[in-house]
Amino acid sequence: MFTRLSRLGRVIWYLRAKRKEELAGLQLDVTSDCNLRCKTCYFFKDGSHLADNMSIQDIEKLFQQYQDQHIYQAWLYGGEPTLREDIIDLAYRYFPVLTIISNGQIKVSSAYKKAKLHISLDGLEKENDYLRGKGSFQKIVSNYRGDRRAIFNVTITKMNLPTLDEVICYVKSLKTAGIEFQIYSKSSKPTKFDERLGLDEQDIATVRKTLSKYQYDLNVFMTKALLESLLTRRLESACKLNDYIYCYASDGNRKSCCTPGIVCEDCKMLPTHFIETVEKDNDLMTKLKFSLWM
Ligand code: SF4
Ligand code: SF4
Repeated sequence: MFTRLSRLGRVIWYLRAKRKEELAGLQLDVTSDCNLRCKTCYFFKDGSHLADNMSIQDIEKLFQQYQDQHIYQAWLYGGEPTLREDIIDLAYRYFPVLTIISNGQIKVSSAYKKAKLHISLDGLEKENDYLRGKGSFQKIVSNYRGDRRAIFNVTITKMNLPTLDEVICYVKSLKTAGIEFQIYSKSSKPTKFDERLGLDEQDIATVRKTLSKYQYDLNVFMTKALLESLLTRRLESACKLNDYIYCYASDGNRKSCCTPGIVCEDCKMLPTHFIETVEKDNDLMTKLKFSLWM
């Protein structure tokens, strides 16, 4: 098994990595189950993205397969990955850089002290609880206040945009690792896209003005180049995600994207724009911030 990398070790590793294979990682939907039913979730709307769950033995085989290929990092998605602490425990032993994408309702044990936790938050209490369910905001805050492993992941919508500065200020007061953003994107089935939440041109200008202020703030994972990519760049060819990330559904089948259901031409998800920014612009600020946040 690999030894776990220190924070400094991660930064050095990331900045020195020359080939994309060195930065590649495994993404696994740990389970199809979830303890929330968010209004914008593609998973449970019609069940078309739900899959069976692999046995722990098959998951260990998968982890071993990627460890044998010298893959150092993994991202655990769901459903909700914290419902399966046994899989988190296994992944923590196999991958020196481990990121867990969670809805924050169950606290990840402090035993996994070097895991990076990306916790979904849809704004302040009123906006978050409208989409994620009553009480979910307070649960997130009580679980992760002061936890330096936690990064809050905010999907910007028309609903939370007016309070974006307040959200950033509030998250900073929680003394976690900070905050990151993506933008509500069109999904493949038009009925699932909520037009009331989508951004128009004026909203895009507001996002640009608001987030540009945080270019040099190391607790706000947004840079000028990344922001411009998210707001304006359309993918010119196939998404680069699959060059870096090997995505698996919970039944063990490969899938083309970590967040199926999004229309690629309108995709404003953070991972793909991060890859585009680093590849096309080789933007040092984006690279530096990302390496600090891993
Ligand atoms: S927490 Fe994630 S998987 Fe669960 S319902 Fe919400 S969006 Fe869907
Ligand atoms: S939805 Fe986005 S991240 Fe997924 S394959 Fe399409 S462009 Fe890439």
